[in-house]
Amino acid sequence: MSSHSLEQFLTENIEDLKSKGLYNVIDPLQGPNGPTIDIEGKSLINLSSNNYLGLATDNRLVDASIEAAKKYGAGAGAVRTINGTMDLHLELEHKLAEFKHTEAVITYQSGFNCNMAAISAVMDKNDAILSDELNHASIIDGCRLSRAKTIRFKHSDMEDLRAQAKAAKESGLYNKIMVITDGVFSMDGDIAKLPEIVQIAEEFDLITYVDDAHGSGVLGQGAGTVKHFGLSDRIDFQIGTLSKAIGVVGGYVAGSTKLIEWLKLRSRPFLFSTAMPPASVAAIIASVDILMNDQTLIKKLWENGDFLKSELKKLGFDVGHSETPITPCIIGDEVKTQEFSKRLYEEGVYAKAIVFPTVPKGTGRIRNMPTAAHSREMLEQVVSVYEKVGKELGII
Ligand code: PMP
Repeated sequence: MSSHSLEQFLTENIEDLKSKGLYNVIDPLQGPNGPTIDIEGKSLINLSSNNYLGLATDNRLVDASIEAAKKYGAGAGAVRTINGTMDLHLELEHKLAEFKHTEAVITYQSGFNCNMAAISAVMDKNDAILSDELNHASIIDGCRLSRAKTIRFKHSDMEDLRAQAKAAKESGLYNKIMVITDGVFSMDGDIAKLPEIVQIAEEFDLITYVDDAHGSGVLGQGAGTVKHFGLSDRIDFQIGTLSKAIGVVGGYVAGSTKLIEWLKLRSRPFLFSTAMPPASVAAIIASVDILMNDQTLIKKLWENGDFLKSELKKLGFDVGHSETPITPCIIGDEVKTQEFSKRLYEEGVYAKAIVFPTVPKGTGRIRNMPTAAHSREMLEQVVSVYEKVGKELGII
């Protein structure tokens, strides 16, 4: 039996979340996370996955996984630094370095892990980190773990970044200063102002760190936001996930040979957490091969994104200022956002409500993630359901 104080803490806080529309219900899928999904025996058009290119359900990846599992087994058996490194892991890292136009790459078991690993491996309590206020939770946690002084700058506000960089530099308090930003901000779909960030970084000798979880496979012919701006040799850390457009699981840092050498020596998830399973690694290799040789899926993703965004905007929805296929539909009030999502579900569209703490309070939204795997008919159906439910709830 749990302690009385724990019981009271849990009950009070769970009830509080329920009353504010902040309680998250998990809907288990009964099959793959494709353009349509099955939940509770019902087939729905899916607008909530990060499976941007449809590769998570691509048979070429599935076949590569099966073959690798048969050859190497189900698990890697050890951490990378003992004997969990297989030739497959190295093949993947070489391929990713080529794909990202950097000297070297290190992979981790997740994108989240990657931020926990990389920031704290180079930054410590004598350093400072300038972090965009809308950066992802794993960046925030990675900064905390490093014990460096974290200074938030206003979202994509280059004047604020410049002022904070100048103040930090002139204070003389810090050995190293880093600037960290998401490449694409996942809740709004806007792109970081990397050319200006790089200029400021060069002026004040800042280490540059870009988490491109949502830019990889989407921008820069798939190579990401840094390539999109032609800045591959001017960013120190390029972080990416292997779980979104790439379609599998894992994360990586792309950078100089010396940086990757250091991370292999000192980043804790690499040293103390078991290596990625061979089936996943083989699927990622197959996925990167597809991306390096064929732009068809990326083109389709953008066409679908542009279509959905412009149709929802025409209907009068607030789709924010996205510059990528991510299509938010901002409603504001959390309870109303949940209600909207529930009605979409009843009408055959799965588009999850995103509320605090994932986005600031009062900015509840449905975040639509069109993918390359959606057909035009599916998206037309989504638009007509949005129109019906939007009018019914007085949103448009
Ligand atoms: N960084 C960003 C910007 C993300 O959006 C995410 C995923 N939500 C992560 C890191 C974590 O990646 P993963 O899901 O691979 O752990």
